Amino acid sequence: MRNFLAKKVLDLKPSGIRKFFDIASEIEGCISLGVGEPDFDTPWHIREEGIYSLERGKTHYTSNAGLKDLRIEICNYLKRKNNLDYKWDSDVLVTVGGSEAIDIALRAMIEDGDEVIITTPCYVSYEPCAIMAGAKVKTIPLKNENEFRLTAKELEEAITPKSKILLMNFPNNPTGAIMERKDLEEIAKVVIEHDLVVISDEIYSELTYFGNHVSIAEIPGMKERTILINGFSKSYAMTGWRLGFAVGPSEIIRQMIKIHQFCIMCAPITSQHAAVEALRNGDSDVTYMREAYDERRRYLLYRFKEMGLPCFTPKGAFYVFPDIRKFGMSSEEFAIKLLKEQKVVVVPGSAFGESGEGFIRISYAYSIDDLKKALARVEEFIKTLKWFLRTWNVKF
Ligand code: PMP
Repeated sequence: MRNFLAKKVLDLKPSGIRKFFDIASEIEGCISLGVGEPDFDTPWHIREEGIYSLERGKTHYTSNAGLKDLRIEICNYLKRKNNLDYKWDSDVLVTVGGSEAIDIALRAMIEDGDEVIITTPCYVSYEPCAIMAGAKVKTIPLKNENEFRLTAKELEEAITPKSKILLMNFPNNPTGAIMERKDLEEIAKVVIEHDLVVISDEIYSELTYFGNHVSIAEIPGMKERTILINGFSKSYAMTGWRLGFAVGPSEIIRQMIKIHQFCIMCAPITSQHAAVEALRNGDSDVTYMREAYDERRRYLLYRFKEMGLPCFTPKGAFYVFPDIRKFGMSSEEFAIKLLKEQKVVVVPGSAFGESGEGFIRISYAYSIDDLKKALARVEEFIKTLKWFLRTWNVKF
């Protein structure tokens, strides 16, 4: 069979997250803090709009780029949130989740051997998608001491004559890091100087807890070299609807539409109708969910402090990324031990790239009650570890 399979697919490593959930599924009574999807159901008025569209017989293909109304609402949204001007008929593509947008943005631009610079730790699909598109991947390991922000110096050092694309994601999965305007201005200077294109995955843009999200496309000179990707999964709790979008320079979007047309045709029409409603009338739902996530974020940080688990203050997304280096084991060992001894699922930081080693990702897309129960177990676990280290006279 191997003869029939493509080497570049065979060589892809399976996602470290999956491997870990497979172990967890064998253990009964686990509390999971592992999954990166909202615990909320999609707000009712958005679901209702999907149902209503079906009742009206809206069951057909849409245009390849997406419903006109939706593309117009996406432009209105980006104007309202980021003061960005995009044209609905040339600069917008509605995709099957942010996932598809990432994949086809890379495929539209990569020539064999081009380098894609990816900041790590990062979402698990970036490297495989870039490799599948024929790219060479260059990673920039971001640092805890910089709150996992990308610095201009780090970017400068990673650039080679083959570099073409910077793929980055803020607010970030798995760290919860954000980039402020001043950080983005520094990055923009380097990007422009070296003539790079940015694929900016802003899927968590609605989940920032210290002021509004800033898009790199807002920085002067960047809109014309940025593919901005966003979607409905996180902000409107619509993961299962599979809907996202890409906006950017029309020449690039036009080529992305070609790939999308040949492999997808169009995003699901029911989801597109629901998404129009989300953008028109969903602001208060977003605020409600953001406030709930923020309460949980603050609770986790407070509990980590109590139990002596160091963690930088994440300002976005719904993840915390505590530092477990002082316990003298790998993040995978830590996560497996925590799972076996206390039945709590977290994801080892190493699943998000080598620079995630020494950290674990905890998602707070769970109810505060579940978080309380899970954190009591984590505290027990840490007490045992500390006792063990003290007994063996290890400094921590
Ligand atoms: N980007 C990041 C950073 C993510 O965390 C996820 C989902 N976990 C996605 C993209 C994909 O989201 P979607 O459901 O829109 O495909």
